[in-house]
Amino acid sequence: MQMNRNGYLKGTHRIVIKVGTTSITKGGPGASTEFMDSIARQVKDLKDNGTEVLIVTSGAIGIGLSTMNAKARSREIPIRQAAASIGQSVLMQKWNDSFQKFGISVAQILLTYDFYSDREKYLNLRNAIQTLLEYKAVPIFNENDAICVKEIDAVFGDNDTLSAMVSIKMDADLLIILSDVDGLYDKNPKLFRDANLIPTVTEITDEIRASAGDPTSKVGTGGMRTKIKAAEICHETGCNVIIASSDVDNVIARAVAGEEIGTIFIADKRERRKSSWIRHAHASGSIEIDEGAKNALSKHVSLLAIGIKAVTGRFDRGDVINITCGGKIVAKGTPDYNSDDISKIKGLHSDKMSEVLGHKNYDNVIRSENIVLM
Ligand code: GLU
Repeated sequence: MQMNRNGYLKGTHRIVIKVGTTSITKGGPGASTEFMDSIARQVKDLKDNGTEVLIVTSGAIGIGLSTMNAKARSREIPIRQAAASIGQSVLMQKWNDSFQKFGISVAQILLTYDFYSDREKYLNLRNAIQTLLEYKAVPIFNENDAICVKEIDAVFGDNDTLSAMVSIKMDADLLIILSDVDGLYDKNPKLFRDANLIPTVTEITDEIRASAGDPTSKVGTGGMRTKIKAAEICHETGCNVIIASSDVDNVIARAVAGEEIGTIFIADKRERRKSSWIRHAHASGSIEIDEGAKNALSKHVSLLAIGIKAVTGRFDRGDVINITCGGKIVAKGTPDYNSDDISKIKGLHSDKMSEVLGHKNYDNVIRSENIVLM
């Protein structure tokens, strides 16, 4: 039997709120003060009740393009990078103005994808965020579009994915994605009058993915598809997601209070955080294993050097790598040896490892707890 939303949202302590470009600009060329003030007011109420809030904001490119008098639909990357640089400072100034009205400081954090893959960067970021929250500030994230071509174009490509990454890495219990859509419909509501809003999703099936359709907006890069992807990322790490329209009055407060607004994606609380990090991190290299080793991995046994046939790329101990068999990725993991060492010991029995390397850290090349099957 399904619980009501209150039940699922009970114990929500840390929330990430993602605000899309169309919400920030409310259809106009610049940022909407009224809208941003209303977000700041709702965040203030949440904070007063002891909830920690982080914001992922879009809008830099949209605002920058209009400041530059450039075309909103311009897809040329250098223009979008320039626009992001101009727009980001305006955007943060606007957020700062809105939050100052409620006595709250904001902190700008521009991220590139490697915060997710590089454990050291991630830990540094985590410490910084923890300190900001202790000082009652609101961290406001965006992608570092000016230096990261891929992020505007492909890798995160959209702040929906970024907001999911931030949520799972910062241990949020809830991600609220605010945009110009009311939630997930069973078919495109712009095309079909009989489309129905799906209030609750407990499992992200192919049918759910199919109902997402294509990206729509011209200024933002995300569409429903990237929102579903965000929900999928959060799903397996225990973070609930609500997709709702920013036009709804008091939308954040009401969604957090468990009102049936938009679509809620109920999280699966099972997967450990480390597994999720390994699963989603960018792989720095790969190792090819034989069938025997593949079978062993499927039984959750550690990977030994004897089962390794080849090494590709350069990686350090602790980096995330792909594990392939017949060229197909079967798992990902973090090895206890670097790529040079693994090249030397591949195919060897464990008792030969110290002879070849002059040292031996572990018998296993990747311990079972550091392997995630794909
Ligand atoms: N980082 C982009 C910006 O601030 C937004 C990407 C998106 O539309 O999600 O303009």
